[in-house]
Amino acid sequence: MSRPRTLTDWQALAARLTPQLQGNAFINDDFVPAVSGETFECLNPATGERLAKVASCDGADAEIAVRHARAVFKRGGWSRMAPVERKGVLLRLADLMERHQDELALLDTLDMGKPITSALDDVAGAIGSMRHQAESIDKLYGEVAPTGEQVLGLVLREPLGVVASIVPWNFPLMMTAWKVAPALAAGNSVILKPSEKSPLSALRLAALAREAGLPSGVFQVLPGFGHTVGRALALSMDVECLAFTGSTTVGKQLMQYAGQSNLKRVFLECGGKSPNIVFADCADLDRVAESAAAAIFYNQGEVCIAGSRLLVENSIRDAFVAKVVAAAERMQPGDPLDPTSFMGAMVDSTQHERVMGYIRKGIDEGAVLRAGGEDVAGPGLFIRPVVFDGVTPEMVIGREEIFGPVLSVFGFETEEEALALANDSDFGLAAGLWSQDIGRIMRMTHRLESGQVFVNNWAGGDQSMPFGGVKQSGNGRDKSHHSLAEYTQLKSVWIALS
Ligand code: NAD
Repeated sequence: MSRPRTLTDWQALAARLTPQLQGNAFINDDFVPAVSGETFECLNPATGERLAKVASCDGADAEIAVRHARAVFKRGGWSRMAPVERKGVLLRLADLMERHQDELALLDTLDMGKPITSALDDVAGAIGSMRHQAESIDKLYGEVAPTGEQVLGLVLREPLGVVASIVPWNFPLMMTAWKVAPALAAGNSVILKPSEKSPLSALRLAALAREAGLPSGVFQVLPGFGHTVGRALALSMDVECLAFTGSTTVGKQLMQYAGQSNLKRVFLECGGKSPNIVFADCADLDRVAESAAAAIFYNQGEVCIAGSRLLVENSIRDAFVAKVVAAAERMQPGDPLDPTSFMGAMVDSTQHERVMGYIRKGIDEGAVLRAGGEDVAGPGLFIRPVVFDGVTPEMVIGREEIFGPVLSVFGFETEEEALALANDSDFGLAAGLWSQDIGRIMRMTHRLESGQVFVNNWAGGDQSMPFGGVKQSGNGRDKSHHSLAEYTQLKSVWIALS
């Protein structure tokens, strides 16, 4: 079949796929209902249509999955398999994902409302991650310690055991792959808990993993809610690691659960309120304005590293904001299945209402509304791009993560003021710097409290670069060999030779 290209093609594929959607949990190689028999509904936020009934797992399902995951880990069929063989299985999985990329992208678009073009990019990112981590695992060496001739000191890297990956809904498959690929490559057993708002691509991935030849129990998927199955995994005495992407609030809870149970490792990728700093000496204001608008409006603003705080040098502020507003007008939401749509629908009515609440709050706080703000008629949950100018650090819209298409613009006079504004946040996930002065760029880069700094671009990076934050944006790193290392532990072996 030729690849879908137009809205009509994607609608036809959606009509064919939707009736067969798989909603059961994937436990020990079988698709099964939740022990309780409970289900929840997946709705398409762009239309309100029901997509599937999905198993609502809880503690009972978690206990079964953990038992299988632990048993297969101990048997060693995956954990002690030669790395080059694990690599082969994961590369097969990546190939299968590539063969089914349209379907995987479509599932995320239908499930959470993102435009199909960005869902296709996510799937490419997920495949890239699977291949990168698979390719890395037979190149990860242990160490021989410099002990002298009478002993041999080995430092071995070993898998952790059972890893629970708990992921959000904004990049369902890509966030999954960023966690699952390195954890599996390192030899762990992985239990994935997708968001209750976007479980469909994870369940499809489970079927592909089985087809690729992952042994039973090595990869399992438990759909359900955070306070039920998520909490049970986090409190389990037999889970060695929680790899989490989601909100800072839930991240803090997970650390408590780890303390209340077995001190499992907790790697967190949490929220952000990222500053994007534009100096008057940046090159090509039009291009920078387009990028600044995309930095917040891409994926409807439902992006952890959204450039939600735009800091502009006062001498160019009026002209620059006018260009950002013009770019925002070109980025209106549309049917997520239409390849020409830049923005899609908000994930659900709760998130829609939450974002609309922040917009009302911004108006009440006295920020100057320069674009958007009005309601869009349903049934789809759409929000137009919003630009607030004249935002100050005391305003709620300038401090809290909104996770929607709402940009807050601040003005500044000096480099010091820009730095103080940028760092005045509980978060530290990403920061952007636009200037042609390399001295300023390096001074600012060193002093920005941020896990990543984008210089004269926004959101650049590839599989070789770690992704993660500082402060309350978390402590983990996805992607690259740094992420692979997180899913291993060191064993020191002291061998007396005489
Ligand atoms: P969320 O924290 O509400 O949920 C994330 C996951 O945690 C979901 O699977 C949810 O079911 C689960 N969960 C909720 N309560 C739980 C509990 N008590 N115990 C165990 N699991 C629980 O976040 P969300 O709304 O799904 O996603 C949006 C957030 O994710 C934003 O804050 C965003 O910035 C963040 N995010 C961060 C990154 C990053 O790399 N730093 C990437 C994407 C999203």
